Amino acid sequence: MQIFKKKNALINCLSILKQKNQQIGFVPTMGALHKGHLSLVEESNKNNDISVVSIFVNPTQFNKEEDLKKYPKTLEKDLELLRSINCDIVFIPTVEEIYANNVNSKSYSFDGIEHQMEGKFRDGHFDGVATIIHAFFEIIKPNNAYFGEKDYQQLQVVKKLTEKENLPVRIIGCPIYRENDGLAMSSRNARLTENQRNASPLIYKTLNETSNLINTTKIEDIYAFVKGKFENNELLDLEYFTIAEEENLQEVNTIQTGKKHRAFIAVNASNVRLIDNISLPTNK
Ligand code: AMP
Repeated sequence: MQIFKKKNALINCLSILKQKNQQIGFVPTMGALHKGHLSLVEESNKNNDISVVSIFVNPTQFNKEEDLKKYPKTLEKDLELLRSINCDIVFIPTVEEIYANNVNSKSYSFDGIEHQMEGKFRDGHFDGVATIIHAFFEIIKPNNAYFGEKDYQQLQVVKKLTEKENLPVRIIGCPIYRENDGLAMSSRNARLTENQRNASPLIYKTLNETSNLINTTKIEDIYAFVKGKFENNELLDLEYFTIAEEENLQEVNTIQTGKKHRAFIAVNASNVRLIDNISLPTNK
């Protein structure tokens, strides 16, 4: 496994591989790796000659200083995990290497997708995400790039980015990897107290219940049902619950025949923010 800190060295290495017609798969991460991340790398390994993983905690996508500061860092363990699944290349740039002395996002428009859900609660988040992914795509020029459905809105934003900027990369969404009790794996889970961790399976359990209710219950009643589930919970604070069309992420009042929908949720366990989503059965 080769480790690069400098983009020019990585670009040189990749250009030699590309001359040999090697297919490049790319998995961007912020480190503190878990099995969810590794499942993306394994998908990349299956379908490419070379897998490149970046580990970079991108400052411009954080809107809360504390969240950025407390973001878990486990570099040595991350490298060990990546070695164990035969990752080829790891890119670990510094903030300066990526942003020089201008640590700011560019401004993008994604046809409204960026203003829903996470966009409402994390101001500027998707400009930050798009800025870093765009920069990485320009450095790495991957054939395929892998993103988790865990961050479904991010996946749709990245698809729009490649469409709008005409970037020659295929974006592949990968299923959410969960703990045995249903909690979606996340680097932030490491920051939960034992009590918060024990309470957190309620998030996925509630999503599953909404999925069971969707074809028999009015959407407004489902919203009330979800609100009720968290109302008296002292450990988990519901930030939003939204049912939206999968493609454009617009919130809906009724399930539309033939269209795909998803339920999205964000919950705060004190200052740890947890998100999850579920695909809803189609109304035929
Ligand atoms: P992060 O390190 O949180 O920026 O995540 C890097 C990539 O891993 C993103 O595409 C995430 O959506 C994906 N990811 C994070 N958690 C999971 C999970 N539990 N299952 C699948 N993919 C995930």
